[in-house]
Amino acid sequence: MKAKYSIIVPMYNEEEVIAHTCERLLQVMDGQGEPYELIFINDGSRDRSADIIREIGSADPRVKLIDFSRNFGHQLAITAGMDYASGDAIIIIDADLQDPPEVMLAMIAKWKEGYDVVYGKRLQRKGETWFKKTTASLFYRLLRSMTNVDIPVDTGDFRLIDRKVNDVLRTLKEKNRFVRGLVSWVGFRQTSVEYVREERFAGETKYPLRKMIHFAADGITSFSYKPLRMAAYIGFGLSALSFVYLVVVVIQRLFFVVQMPGWASIIAINLFFNGIILVLLGVIGEYIGRIYDESKGRPLYIVREAQGFEEPKTEKEA
Ligand code: UDP
Ligand code: MG
Repeated sequence: MKAKYSIIVPMYNEEEVIAHTCERLLQVMDGQGEPYELIFINDGSRDRSADIIREIGSADPRVKLIDFSRNFGHQLAITAGMDYASGDAIIIIDADLQDPPEVMLAMIAKWKEGYDVVYGKRLQRKGETWFKKTTASLFYRLLRSMTNVDIPVDTGDFRLIDRKVNDVLRTLKEKNRFVRGLVSWVGFRQTSVEYVREERFAGETKYPLRKMIHFAADGITSFSYKPLRMAAYIGFGLSALSFVYLVVVVIQRLFFVVQMPGWASIIAINLFFNGIILVLLGVIGEYIGRIYDESKGRPLYIVREAQGFEEPKTEKEA
């Protein structure tokens, strides 16, 4: 029977929670009575996550597995799920039960009212560190102030997407993907449901600081040129100040007999300007690196094995 709903679950080393998550998802989705599929994407886990899903899937054809050849990252795992999903509505949910499965029913209800995208808005985040909450909150606001795309704050990838929105998203092939931004960018009728983000059911976060910074840089560079423009503004500002100071120095030298102060001030100015130049070069580098990624034309992800799908898809079709 064709699935009406496709639930996409990216997982990376989630062996401690994944069986339980699968059970909860089956339970909640059984409650609503319409056909569905659960698509688990194993993003190169080094533990038994894939084996657990493979086993459940061999007894229950609604549980499907996409096994990546290595770790490609959360956003690409979601992308693969979106490529393989066959439902009329697609729901993305984390594997760690931080997004309560019951909220999916509220999303489905909104979808039935005629909305094309229903995203989950976090009212509160439980069990996350002060550091994570503060940086996340700052990031969403910074991103918003930097782009013209209306990306909602305090919203993750937990959301429902209509088939037609998914079809459009699949035509966007950019490499350094920031999925929640792309969903905002395509438009359509969007709304939110509010929820309280729970603690992780078990295991630890798979988003260390390094990945968080990379993710934030992807979000900003994908949707804004402002950092580049700021580089130019800073350049103009500092040039103007330098020019004023230059005039002052020349006048002092010509018309007043002053002791030219030496070494310390020159070194200080030098270090200051060199620092700024390097930072601004780094900003430009972030953009150039992404242009380089696009130019290579490599596939977004590589699937080692797909279980439970009728005909295996290639990325070309996807
Ligand atoms: N994840 C993934 N690949 C990665 C990192 C994370 O597929 O490289 C998955 C992870 O298994 C989880 C979701 O992405 O289902 C969100 O990750 P996590 O819960 O660790 O992030 P947090 O909630 O701490 O931000
Ligand atoms: Mg989590």
